[in-house]
Amino acid sequence: MGEEKFAVIVVGAGPAGSAAAYLLAKEGLDVLLVEKGAAPGSKNMFGGRMYSHALHRIMPNFWEEAPVERAVVREEVTFLSGSRSVTVSCQDFGWAGSFRHSFTLLRAEFDAWLASKAEEAGAMLACGILVDDLLVEGGKVVGIRAGEDEMLADVVIAADGVNSIIAQKAGLAKMFTPHQVATGVKQVIKLSPEEVSRRFQVEGNNGVARLFVGDCTKGMRGGGFLYTNRDSVSLGLVVTASELQKGRYKISELVEEFKHNPHVSPLIEGGEVVEYSAHLVPEAGLNMVPQLCGDGILVVGDAAGFVLNLGYIVRGMDFAVASGEAAAKAVLQARESNDFSRGGLSRYEQLLRQSFVFRDLEAYRKAPAFMENPRMFTAYPQLAASIASGVFTVDGSAPAHLLGKVLSRVRESGVSLAQLAGDSWKGARSL
Ligand SMILES: Cc1cc2nc3c(=O)[nH]c(=O)nc-3n(C[C@H](O)[C@H](O)[C@H](O)COP(=O)(O)OP(=O)(O)OC[C@H]3O[C@@H](n4cnc5c(N)ncnc54)[C@H](O)[C@@H]3O)c2cc1C
Repeated sequence: MGEEKFAVIVVGAGPAGSAAAYLLAKEGLDVLLVEKGAAPGSKNMFGGRMYSHALHRIMPNFWEEAPVERAVVREEVTFLSGSRSVTVSCQDFGWAGSFRHSFTLLRAEFDAWLASKAEEAGAMLACGILVDDLLVEGGKVVGIRAGEDEMLADVVIAADGVNSIIAQKAGLAKMFTPHQVATGVKQVIKLSPEEVSRRFQVEGNNGVARLFVGDCTKGMRGGGFLYTNRDSVSLGLVVTASELQKGRYKISELVEEFKHNPHVSPLIEGGEVVEYSAHLVPEAGLNMVPQLCGDGILVVGDAAGFVLNLGYIVRGMDFAVASGEAAAKAVLQARESNDFSRGGLSRYEQLLRQSFVFRDLEAYRKAPAFMENPRMFTAYPQLAASIASGVFTVDGSAPAHLLGKVLSRVRESGVSLAQLAGDSWKGARSL
């Protein structure tokens, strides 16, 4: 590629980049969407479920065409503690009705489809190109460099995911600390569609999203996940990088142990591992959001740290799509005054602040700090499993009412009532 000029260059064909490229190309702009992978999605992974609302807004009923796997109709959070587990389960068939709440996905197919929508709208998709630098003139970003090639644009959109080299090169973001990110490891395990439906007790294209806390991370901050796809399940763990750095456990070994956990193994028994991947997740919420725009540049999606992990809900895909949409709108507005300076692009931040992106990150601002409480991943999963097991055990010993059973298990756990009350109060306000 020689030195060409585009209206917009989008770096990264994940959901954030492809959404932005799609909306800009639809308005007739000359858009280049650059992806380092051999195909969009080939380098991408996530746990497994996307909340639909953000993409539905820009592509109504996208699920009729997109390669989605299953509509999630049941949510489960399981506390694991040795031979015991306790699961909170919520089922709502309405989620698969006219209001399509969320879908499980496989990123290789889904990202390729979304990028193809940007292409259909007129964007030029260039895969297998690693953008390694920005072109800057007079302090303004004027394009990108990929090896020997230089490409010019009025605006560059950094949609290159967590640890955005582009945002760092523009001086908008710093390298994250190991405390701010988690490592995720995932296996896709093949089973027949009938087996998936039978084992998870769902019908048709309905599916299940399961999260696990406790033994699976050996008390480290993080958790396990299991999502049903059409003819496979996505299983994995996410553990804060600073915890893994201590070197006590290897996440690959923890995943194997998780698969052999008696509460998990019957669900995947006999399945064949067909994919193994690892990726970082930004975890510090608003605390790691960089400067979102500079002269000639905007930062979207994971590159901007837009991920929310509440332990029972993990979101990043809807934030990615919505931030891509906000970036596209800001660029269109900047074009009206031909002002691509930071001031001219600042509408992006305003749009984000008016959207659910900042509203939700703001609402859960305290969640990352709350999650640093080690009792969340050790004492409380044990306590939950122990209370539930105690409530359902009949062995001839003297009976106790619920309160007595709960209090005796709390005493045994070593957690004081003051800690329990304090953590419950903080948790209810943070999560
Ligand atoms: C283990 C794990 C579990 C998760 N679970 C969920 C979940 O269940 N639900 C949910 O909503 N979110 C989940 N997330 C978060 C979600 O995956 C991200 O928020 C989302 O992918 C962000 O999209 P993005 O487009 O900003 O970045 P990405 O999806 O990371 O896309 C960035 C793209 O840029 C490309 N790229 C990077 N650098 C360059 C470069 N220099 N040149 C060219 N191309 C480049 C990459 O190849 C990639 O295609 C999870 C994440 C992980 C890691």
